[in-house]
Formats: sequence, structure tokens, C-alpha cells
Amino acid sequence: MRPLDDLIRATIAAEGPMRMDHYMALVLGHPQHGYYMKQDPFGAEGDFLTAPEISQVFGELIGIWCVAAWQGMGSPSAFHLVELGPGRGTLMADMLRAAQLVPAFGAAAKVHFVEMSPVLRAAQRKAVPQAQWHDQFSDVPEGPALIVANEFFDALPIRQFERRNGAWGERVIGLEGGELRLGLVPAPAFHAAYTGEGDVVEVSEARDAVAQQIGARLARQPGAALIIDYGHAPSAPGDTLQAMKRHAYVPLTVSPGDCDVTSHVDFETLGVALKAGGAQVLPLLTQGQFLLAMGLPQRFAKLAATADAATRATLARAEARLADQQQMGNLFKVIASTSPGLTIPYPFGVA
Ligand code: SAH
Repeated sequence: MRPLDDLIRATIAAEGPMRMDHYMALVLGHPQHGYYMKQDPFGAEGDFLTAPEISQVFGELIGIWCVAAWQGMGSPSAFHLVELGPGRGTLMADMLRAAQLVPAFGAAAKVHFVEMSPVLRAAQRKAVPQAQWHDQFSDVPEGPALIVANEFFDALPIRQFERRNGAWGERVIGLEGGELRLGLVPAPAFHAAYTGEGDVVEVSEARDAVAQQIGARLARQPGAALIIDYGHAPSAPGDTLQAMKRHAYVPLTVSPGDCDVTSHVDFETLGVALKAGGAQVLPLLTQGQFLLAMGLPQRFAKLAATADAATRATLARAEARLADQQQMGNLFKVIASTSPGLTIPYPFGVA
């Protein structure tokens, strides 16, 4: 039984080679067989582990960041606290718990989740029962808003273009002997600044669209956004599309719908889209810089002070995993964006 594999092969047989963004959208989001649609992929037993699942401290520090950003907005008595792609709802639950330090924040916050997966919506409902759910960001009601996204943008579809024999081609999935194979079709309309032979350039219309919508909302109404993901700035060529299963990389076309398929986020392009929407974009930080400035070591030290030896060892591993240069600290980046003229929330803009 390989229902999605069969469907993709039938589609390619009928319509020709499939663009990478179409393939990604199908393998992740097909209503019945898509990777996120049919299962909960997180955790040590699952396919990958995200920062909120590594330690509660991650969400707690983001909750504190949100409280400060809300105060920078003039502490509005009602606002939307929006999370894109909340997974199991762990991040938001940890954020809200930490934000209890300032009860007026919790009283003012209306939680909105943007989530396509019914399975993950059910998990989120257990973690944060009071949330409202939406299929896409543009469905979130108007009003002052704080917007958070962790490892959401990496799951949005990308296209890939490759320079071969002095011309651009688009990477596609085709059929060879009835099996899925990577291929290249001419893309004469594509242009990019890079022209090196063999260069791969990634473009994400889906990411640009959401980032621009966020920017436009921040331009219309007071608010701020915090987007965390793995990726790079400045923009650079490179094939970063990857499929992952049980914490290991697998070929992209193997068992579609059973592997997580993501790519690195181009933070320069994301910033350009936020600005194009009308928002102010703050200088990029690495996840390590952001978490250290927000008090990660102090928070872990506090938890360790009352823990037994085994728990202290687990805490030390989690802290290192989140912030060390060799682990998530450097590969993951944090971009913040606010309404134009809004007080710049710490630690952004602190040289
Ligand atoms: N933020 C969570 C989960 C990251 S995985 C964490 O850090 O643990 C990506 C999340 O985005 C999942 O919840 C997935 O279902 C959701 N998602 C992916 N593409 C989406 C889309 N196009 N629309 C809405 N949700 C999407």
C-alpha cells in the first residue's frame, strides 16, 4: 500500500513532470496521505525533534519576549496571539505559562492557531483548549497581534532552479521505468543573480506570500512577529531540500508522505517580503544569540538547582542542544519584525 506514491505516479503519467513545490505540497499536505495530515511526527520516537519539544525553557523565553513586545505596543487590553504551525501546541502552552508572570497579558491574549493538520489540531486542543483554529494566516481576524512561528516556514513549498550548460532549468520529479526520478526541464523565463554552472537556486512563493501578509498586517495594526527556523542569510545558491525519517536523511522520492520534507529558510528573502508588506524588520540573530540574551543559562540553572543528578544531566544536554554553535544555536535563526515605529523589543537592535 503506497497510496500517495501511486497517486503521484499517476499524476505525472497524466500531466508530465511535477514541480518541487507541487510535490512538497502533496507529500506534506495531501488531505488523507500527507505527512502532517495523518500522524504526529514529533518526539524522540518520531522523525524529528523541535526546540519546544527539547525543553520547556524555549517556549518560556519566547513567552517573556511576547510580554515585552506587548508592553512595547502599549499593553493593549485585547490582542491576537497567533502561532503558525504549532505542532503539538507545546510552544504556546509554555509561552502562556511563563506569561502568567504578567496576568494582564494572559487576560488580553486571544490565541489563534494556523494549522492544516487535523491530527495536530487535536494535539493542540489538548495543550491549549482555548485556542481558535484557522486554515491560513489570512483567516486570522484583524486587530493588534503578536505572531510566532517555529519551524513553520521550512515546511512551506519551494521551487528549485538549476544552471546547466549556461541555461536555467527547473528541477522536477518525473518517471523513469515507472519509478519517481529527479529531472530538469527548461526554465527560460527564470532569472537569478547567480550564474555559476551547477548552481541551484531555491524560490518559495508560499513563504514570500505569508511573510508579506504578516508584514502588511503589522503595517495596518500594531504588533510584532518572531520567526524561528533553520536557514541562512544572505541569500545564496544551494540545494537544501531534505527528506527525513526517524532522525535520518532519506532520498526525496522514497516513500512520499512518510518523510518530513523541508528546506532551509532564506532569511534575507523573508526579510524583504516582510518589508514589502510594510513592516519594520530587525537585524537577524542566531537562535543561540537570542536565547542567551533572553536568559537561557539563568533559567536552566534555576531548574537544575532543585533537580536530581539525572535530571541535571538531561537539562544540560537540552541547553546545549538549543544554544550551542555546533547544535541548533547557529544553524537556527530568529528574525523579528514589528509595526513601523514600534519600540524595538529586546534583544533585537542591541549591538
Ligand atoms: N512549531 C512546531 C511544529 C513544527 S512542524 C514545533 O516547533 O514543534 C510544522 C508545523 O506546521 C506542523 O504543525 C504542520 O502541520 C504545520 N504546517 C505545515 N505546512 C502548513 C501549511 N501550509 N498550513 C498550515 N500549517 C502547516
